[in-house]
Amino acid sequence: MNQNAARIFCIGRNYSEHAHELGSEIPKSPVIFIKPISCLVKAGTGVKYPKHGNNLHHEVELVIRIGKAGQPSSPEESLDFVDAFTIGLDLTLRDVQNRLKEKGLPWEISKAFDQSAPIGAFIKYEHSGQLNNLIFRCFVDGEKRQEGNSNDMIFSVKQLIFEISRIWILQPGDLIFTGTPSGVGTVNIGNTVSIENEMIGSFSWKIVE
Ligand code: ZN
Repeated sequence: MNQNAARIFCIGRNYSEHAHELGSEIPKSPVIFIKPISCLVKAGTGVKYPKHGNNLHHEVELVIRIGKAGQPSSPEESLDFVDAFTIGLDLTLRDVQNRLKEKGLPWEISKAFDQSAPIGAFIKYEHSGQLNNLIFRCFVDGEKRQEGNSNDMIFSVKQLIFEISRIWILQPGDLIFTGTPSGVGTVNIGNTVSIENEMIGSFSWKIVE
């Protein structure tokens, strides 16, 4: 876990098949929300099922870590700010989120509760090729639920960093959860959620009461 991290930016609807499965429109600019840093939970730790909802969903995502402060002048330059990457889960109370969406209310209590951001170990970023064609998966009790490819993002990593930096000047330690591919689904108490990528590794969390 990166002790320096201070902010977690998350992207909604960044894969068209996932937007369709939730009945959402394809956005014209990235949908950005934030989780408190206290949401992070490293692999091997139990994740407590939140008490304020009844339909907890897994969303596996590629996660980017920013290494330096500043504001890139172009999407191309944005990649110079990347320091490391991993995979993580954007745990979501879908029933709560749907209620909030219907009323046009903010999503925080459905997505930014304690332990809503399980995160794997970081790999040093060396070149942009590492983020191309990066395939990652999510399993529940060993059954494959999601398989994503970073090439299928609607907004690429460099576009996301650039868009975020227009609003928040980048800080070292900033994390960006880059959105989930299709296949999101329910996890229950007793399930083990695992996420994996060949280069980054495999990480698991048990959902506990
Ligand atoms: Zn997500």
